[in-house]
Amino acid sequence: MNTHKEQQPKREQPVERVIGPGFDNEDYEIAHDFFTKRFENQDFVKDIEREKTEEEEQIIAWVNDETNALLKQYGARPLEIPSKNVHIISEKSWPKSNDFEDSAAFYNLGTQSIFYREEPGHSLFAYRLFHEDLHIKSHQAVQYVEEEGVPKWEQYRSGLGLSSEKRENYEQQFRRLNEAVIETLAVHFWKEKIAKNERFREEVEALSRVKQVLHSEQAAISEQAAIKESDKIYEDDTEQLIEEVCAATEDEKGLKLEYFSYSLERAALSHLIGTIYERNKATVKDPGEIFNLFVKSMMTGHMVELAELIDRTSGTGTFKRLGAISSEKHTKEEFLDFIKNL
Ligand SMILES: [Zn+2]
Repeated sequence: MNTHKEQQPKREQPVERVIGPGFDNEDYEIAHDFFTKRFENQDFVKDIEREKTEEEEQIIAWVNDETNALLKQYGARPLEIPSKNVHIISEKSWPKSNDFEDSAAFYNLGTQSIFYREEPGHSLFAYRLFHEDLHIKSHQAVQYVEEEGVPKWEQYRSGLGLSSEKRENYEQQFRRLNEAVIETLAVHFWKEKIAKNERFREEVEALSRVKQVLHSEQAAISEQAAIKESDKIYEDDTEQLIEEVCAATEDEKGLKLEYFSYSLERAALSHLIGTIYERNKATVKDPGEIFNLFVKSMMTGHMVELAELIDRTSGTGTFKRLGAISSEKHTKEEFLDFIKNL
């Protein structure tokens, strides 16, 4: 074994840090045990989840390895997400509450698991799982809070996301920015890994054929996109919009297209990176270097370098304001406008 280099302790579960008023080591141990048990005990959803196929098991293992390789590349500690922490829920069993109604998949801190809403197609599963794996594997910290005398755990940090009582009463700061970073990586993963993987060849080829048809029938997609995409970011650019289609399925209602998510947030991030790059050309090699800093900050939780770069570029206090405008208290259009006006 190589012992000359000191290793960070292995990351065994997502929560890396716990904060709370007057927290001591013993309290920390209790919290750590609590989240370890939660991470390990995934039987609570047995009744509604469906059994995974062998193919899905393989995809879960593959996406786990791919996301870990990415974490290592950015100097973050890898984390194994076992198949039991990924729950595939059929459409009819999917939670009906407002919080989940529109989501295709999500990561839940309280249960330490990923939920996936069953859809046909393995490439869609791999792509969405990659996104959720990055959420769970990004820096995670929780805070101990008391709400009306009842103690509970609240998310403190999730990637770039930051929630605290002082800031818009736990409304997650940097939320849209965090989604933009994750989804930009997920789109890249789709194009570079999924689209080139033999496992998904049939689906990807079928999708290419659908895209060819869409290119020749642009009116049809504009109409569907207007219904589907509220952001309107590709309103005048149908060619670009077609490139955003990541899956096409056919059922009795006709052709159903799935798009990469957070298009407006990704556009905002890309604009922000462009602005930072333009103003720091003397010291920054290329825009990719700035994107990498966003990814690294999200994975490791170290925000100082990114905060300093943004404040140096656009004025003291910009980073904090960027965090506030990225919360869900503000619309994504407000988020984009803020960035365009920096
Ligand atoms: Zn997300």
